[in-house]
Amino acid sequence: MFRIQAYQHISTFRHMVASYSVTKVQKPLKDVRYTKLFINNEWHNAVSGRTFPTVDPSTGEIIAHVAEAEKDDVDLAVQAAKQAFRLGSPWRAMDASHRGQLLNRLADLIERDRVYLASLESLDNGKPFSVSYNLDVGETIKIYRYFGGFADKCHGKTIPMDGSYFCYTRLEPVGVCGQIIPWNFPLIMQCWKLAPALATGNTVVMKVAEQTPLSALYIASLVKEAGFPPGVVNILTGYGATAGAAIARHMDVDKVAFTGSTNVGRLIQKAAGESNLKRVTLELGGKSPCIVLADANLEHAVEQCHEAVFFNMGQCCAAGSRTYVEESIYDEFLEKAVEKAKARKIGNPFESDTEHGPQINNVQFNKILDYIKIGKKEGAKLVSGGDRYGDQGFFIKPTVFADVHDNMRIAREEIFGPVQSIIKFKKIDEVIERANGTRYGLAAGIFTKDLDRAMHLTQSLQAGTVWVNTYNIVASQTPFGGYKESGNGRELGEDGLKAYTEVKSVIVKMSQKNS
Ligand code: ADP
Repeated sequence: MFRIQAYQHISTFRHMVASYSVTKVQKPLKDVRYTKLFINNEWHNAVSGRTFPTVDPSTGEIIAHVAEAEKDDVDLAVQAAKQAFRLGSPWRAMDASHRGQLLNRLADLIERDRVYLASLESLDNGKPFSVSYNLDVGETIKIYRYFGGFADKCHGKTIPMDGSYFCYTRLEPVGVCGQIIPWNFPLIMQCWKLAPALATGNTVVMKVAEQTPLSALYIASLVKEAGFPPGVVNILTGYGATAGAAIARHMDVDKVAFTGSTNVGRLIQKAAGESNLKRVTLELGGKSPCIVLADANLEHAVEQCHEAVFFNMGQCCAAGSRTYVEESIYDEFLEKAVEKAKARKIGNPFESDTEHGPQINNVQFNKILDYIKIGKKEGAKLVSGGDRYGDQGFFIKPTVFADVHDNMRIAREEIFGPVQSIIKFKKIDEVIERANGTRYGLAAGIFTKDLDRAMHLTQSLQAGTVWVNTYNIVASQTPFGGYKESGNGRELGEDGLKAYTEVKSVIVKMSQKNS
């Protein structure tokens, strides 16, 4: 059933995944080991008994059927999480340093099973194995370790308050955290949410994306093996409108963290408002600009802007999908960008030189092809790609449009696919206004050798992350999140912990005060 072959891997994404290289020969993947719901450290069928298929996007074939969680299953998972969070429970009584050790043990187990996990990720998601192994699993390990290290370092403050009082703050866990994640980076999205929540002592009910349930379920098995007490982590597979919505509305869920589309983000915020005003953090869509000034190192800028939009087949919320190029270098940039798009190696995710796999599913595939039609109809000039690749699976050729204007839909709407719009600009202040002229504000890239202009741009762009002479560099230490309709709250870094803690002020009356 699976066509994963053994091979020796060499990373083709060195600039993004510098610290890992694969030396092992990959073993063929024989089976999918976990397909049920993970509640209270046990595997359960859905209450309804229903299952749904998960599909290999490179062929369209069904890989496995997984349990379909709905409201009743969410209720059971929330009950387990609530029970695990009760005062005096093994989890609440556990030393913070021990929580950190468990997270580090989880990272060790992921490292042990790295080849299997990377295989599962590529099978279910379609991303090249080289990327799954190096970036997705590699970063996942680092992030669990990073937050593991923070577990006993979430300090409060002592505050010199007025009067004869002693004031200190405690950072306490929020409680039962609902987490809803997307399919573009299944393992990474899971650890961005799970690691800070666990480091700070919360319990979790996570619904993973229906398109990519497999690696998350395997991680659930490792959570148990690592020694987390029952009910601390509960992982559900199911659809958004049923299981996801039930989490967002649940009266016993204290916080919901969501990554996905802006439209669903609105529903989550509304559901929180209409239920128990649970805390909400959202990481949503984007239409991020890359701005290339005439003095930039051209080869480097072309390469970075190419990766900015085509990495992960364009399925990144931070994708640099609007490439603004200064007029005097526009033609030369365009020529090189087209060359690069045409040379991108597309094909079987399990071949070692593949850079570009399929889109996640038929729905996304058709949506992207529709946007390409719209681009042509609105007068943009198609200069590369524009159609499907091969005759099976959901592959789309890296597509480049020239002569794109800001008012075209391909320059305004999130496509979430391999479509680069190359747009001309004349002056810096003009491009700042145009780059900011979007309802999104997730990220931006700047390419220039001029420090002064780089600083002016970094301060003027409305984006949660601004990259200078690079793109898509995200690390466990760096906060990530959006301005405007790209969301609220930050993930990763110390800021990422705040979203999982409540600040409690403790004020103690003293009979006497010394300075
Ligand atoms: P995409 O369109 O890229 O799949 P979505 O925002 O639809 O992005 O999905 C991201 C996550 O949100 C998935 O886990 C999905 O199941 C979930 N989801 C979708 N609709 C809802 C909803 N109404 N309520 C809660 N979660 C949802």
